[in-house]
Amino acid sequence: MSTVGPTTPSTDFIRAIIQEDNRTGKHNGRVHTRFPPEPNGYLHIGHAKSICLNFGIAQEFGGLCNLRFDDTNPCKEDVEYVDSIMEDVRWLGFDWQDRLFYASDYFEQIYQWAVQLIQAGKAYVCDLSADEVRETRGTLTQPGANSPYRDRSVEENLALFERMRAGEFPDGSHTLRAKVDMASPNLNLRDPVMYRILHATHHRSGDKWCIYPTYDFTHGQSDSIERITHSICTLEFENHRPLYDWYLRELGIYAPQQIEFARLNLTYTVMSKRRLLQLVKEGYVAGWDDPRMPTLCGLRRRGYTPEAIRNFCARIGVSKVDSVVDIALLEHCLREDLNRRAPRVMGVLRPLRVVIDNYPEGQVEQMEAVNNPEDASMGTRMVPFTRELYIEQDDFREVPPKKYHRLAPGQEVRLRYAYLVRCASVVKDPQTGAVVEVHCTYDPATRGGNTPDGRKVKGTIHWVSAAHALSAEVRLYDHLFTKANPDEVAEGQDFKVNLNPDSLQPVTGCFVEPSLKDAAPGSRFQFERLGYFCVDPDSKAETPVFNRTVSLVDTWAKIAKKG
Ligand code: ATP
Ligand code: MG
Repeated sequence: MSTVGPTTPSTDFIRAIIQEDNRTGKHNGRVHTRFPPEPNGYLHIGHAKSICLNFGIAQEFGGLCNLRFDDTNPCKEDVEYVDSIMEDVRWLGFDWQDRLFYASDYFEQIYQWAVQLIQAGKAYVCDLSADEVRETRGTLTQPGANSPYRDRSVEENLALFERMRAGEFPDGSHTLRAKVDMASPNLNLRDPVMYRILHATHHRSGDKWCIYPTYDFTHGQSDSIERITHSICTLEFENHRPLYDWYLRELGIYAPQQIEFARLNLTYTVMSKRRLLQLVKEGYVAGWDDPRMPTLCGLRRRGYTPEAIRNFCARIGVSKVDSVVDIALLEHCLREDLNRRAPRVMGVLRPLRVVIDNYPEGQVEQMEAVNNPEDASMGTRMVPFTRELYIEQDDFREVPPKKYHRLAPGQEVRLRYAYLVRCASVVKDPQTGAVVEVHCTYDPATRGGNTPDGRKVKGTIHWVSAAHALSAEVRLYDHLFTKANPDEVAEGQDFKVNLNPDSLQPVTGCFVEPSLKDAAPGSRFQFERLGYFCVDPDSKAETPVFNRTVSLVDTWAKIAKKG
């Protein structure tokens, strides 16, 4: 595995294949892709790579991309997932127009194709149990053994298959298998199962079926029905391609081209739906949309923008080689986008009270603050300034270390958009000795932060007016796992031992400027000097809740510089 660099590939091997197909007229210039999720969980950032690739290619080549639910396993699938997947694909910025499909809508056709293969002597009903099928499958070095039911007559197979459909047999008692080659070096071709009996209610077809086709006997045919030109999937399906092609060839139907690419892996992240479901079910996170989850709904709640995710997907590119992408690159793409777009505000997470002794009591001055230094069109707003303020506890030191340019006894600092203040004295808690209040004097000649006499003041800190501030809760997040590779565990342990106990740090008693009073859930801000924050749906009218989307420290920029 290698680490992916920050450069954007102008093209990739998949786009090169499509360009070549267009040049030779293979599909008459048609480009038709699909995104085929199984509705057994919420989409994650890995799916975003696939969505951007499939929908992106369709856009670039003037083609079409379908959304197709690959819903062949009624036991694990649910409409909750169907709905969330549609919401997430739309949120990412893609549109399947009128091309929403379900593999389950093809069940009758797929059944007919199974009958066709039975009639051609290419499929048979097998009475071996799942365990027996596995045991007779052979290994990479040893051929499998033919099933004793392999040579049933066509008539017998047709009759049994019909009875399977009619519900005459219990789960697991029979399967329909393709008659390919039990000695094939490719295990997928050793008489793979095409249908299994499952007396389960399907989220769409209800109880109409008690036999369900396998992924392999569904996917290629669904692609064929939809006249997909390029069926793009992840590398683990490379070994399935000969079977994909075999079914389409034996059925004599239109055959799309399957192309595999490397799935996305991210440091400090697990990506399989099975594991994400486990984290949700066992309560390690608050739900699929917990802001620490790599799901699209989790990232959205965290404050990620679709633009940042699309840009990330473009930058990582696609290749045939498995790799792990540094999560710092994803965060870098997010900062880039939020830096351009997020309005700046002031908020204090761990407040320390400041009293400006020579500032008139009861006076309120409205200070003009810039909404976004990156974008003048975002204008300015007024921030109230008064005698009593809150600053960050970190921005005061009773005994300042060297080069500490913030507030300390006798030291002067600039209050952003307001005045220069000098620390005159402190009030301490008699019990603990901790500084609970800082007294300052301000220089009225420095309004707006300028010094008419030209004296230099290095430090600028943020603040809020105590009388006007809104109290808020802030949720700070760190990686969900402590290890870059969550699978790095001792013998007998699993990835959950690497869960980060400090991945969520709630901070209450924060104060933010009054302009945030009506900020709607989902809106994003830069809290000056602290990071980017997003209003959480848990917010109450009187107490907004902010998720820290990402801090301001760009570790990716540092990595890129070093590299
Ligand atoms: P998981 O392994 O996370 O459970 P999956 O492959 O079972 O995911 P599907 O719903 O079958 O999930 O995936 C839909 C599409 O998204 C497939 O084409 C799959 O190859 C692709 N996909 C899934 N995970 C990734 C990933 N990490 N990177 C890129 N594409 C992915
Ligand atoms: Mg899958």
